[in-house]
Amino acid sequence: MPNQATTFVHAGRKKRYAQGAVNSVIQRASSLIFESVAEKKHATANRYKGALFYGRRGTLTHFALQDALCELEGGAGCYLYPCGAAAISNSILAFVEQGDHILMTGAAYEPTQDFCRVILNKMGVTTSYYDPLIGEGIGKLIQPNTKVLFLESPSSLTMEVPDIPTLVKTARSVNPDIVIMIDNTWGAGVLFPALEYGIDISIQAGTKYLVGHSDGMIGTAVANDRCWDQLREQSYLMGQMVDADTAYTTARGLRTLGIRLKQHEESSLAVAKWLSQQPEVKAVYHPALASCPGHEFFQRDFRGASGLFSFELCKTLNDKELAHFLDHFEIFTMAYSWGGFESLILAYQPNEITPIRPAIERTLSGTLVRVHIGFEAVEDLIDDLAKGLARLNRE
Ligand SMILES: *Cc1c(COP(=O)(O)O)cnc(C)c1O
Repeated sequence: MPNQATTFVHAGRKKRYAQGAVNSVIQRASSLIFESVAEKKHATANRYKGALFYGRRGTLTHFALQDALCELEGGAGCYLYPCGAAAISNSILAFVEQGDHILMTGAAYEPTQDFCRVILNKMGVTTSYYDPLIGEGIGKLIQPNTKVLFLESPSSLTMEVPDIPTLVKTARSVNPDIVIMIDNTWGAGVLFPALEYGIDISIQAGTKYLVGHSDGMIGTAVANDRCWDQLREQSYLMGQMVDADTAYTTARGLRTLGIRLKQHEESSLAVAKWLSQQPEVKAVYHPALASCPGHEFFQRDFRGASGLFSFELCKTLNDKELAHFLDHFEIFTMAYSWGGFESLILAYQPNEITPIRPAIERTLSGTLVRVHIGFEAVEDLIDDLAKGLARLNRE
């Protein structure tokens, strides 16, 4: 196995896909032409084994990206979706039916929870939430009809890092067949090698770090041998697809993913450490700092950190204070999403967090600020944040 840095550069770059160039071709196609009856027959038999069959099964551009992600994440196959939310919902849908039950982390990305509440509920699939720090306690929550255990690490917004080996081992000891999936977006599928930890499906909003430039949306799900056929065929029946241009952009993002993640880690840690010394800040939730719940599991299981973390202010800002704080940053911009080259900031009030933290008793007492640290100079970012914190002390 080459070093991961080498794999980022070389993964998926087969001659068949690149046709003499360095990168894969962008093959935009619905129809893929058969030269003969025999060729059509061969393509049909091999339609999910790399033969060109019909646009919805993918083109050379898609195959290049799928191969690359399988290599990076160690899977049997990779399905591509139009966005991360589609990757999550279709991965779950592929493994549940009416009467089933799933276990969802109580700190999941909010639209994932909404999908369970609205869509799964409508289908007669029930959801229970667990505290991501529950550890062995997960065993008691598994019911005879529990089909899926869904993980996310670190947690959205509050950043708790679960003890994944314990969750996986306990869940499998109760039900060896349970399908375990993870929203692995924060670690870009490579900082946490999910499949090596016994997880069946590693899902990403490739929108974030894979694309890496805030200019595209894609979802990816890399599955092990046990789950690949079912995930692929059911996602295919749901009509899941992404266009060749976005697949190409994503593959290009992979080439710099390693060095980008290194810089996100270095800069986000520097900013997080500075924040943890500021009197206006109650706690910093960066997985690489001891103040983040589950930090010990991060240290043990992850290969590194990325650029997204949050911090809790000592007080809950009122509307006016919040606007005064957020409206005047010069470098940080306010936007959803993250994973691009630019720094972002958003804030959440404790009363917005509590309802989207089912089964979690820990609460916030101050406003939660989430930042994504991009590639601007760290001193400029700290300067911008320092001015922001200073605005909290003035009327
Ligand atoms: C953004 C995000 C998603 C959804 O991805 P989209 O591409 O926006 O649909 C899912 N999970 C996490 C953790 C995310 O941050």
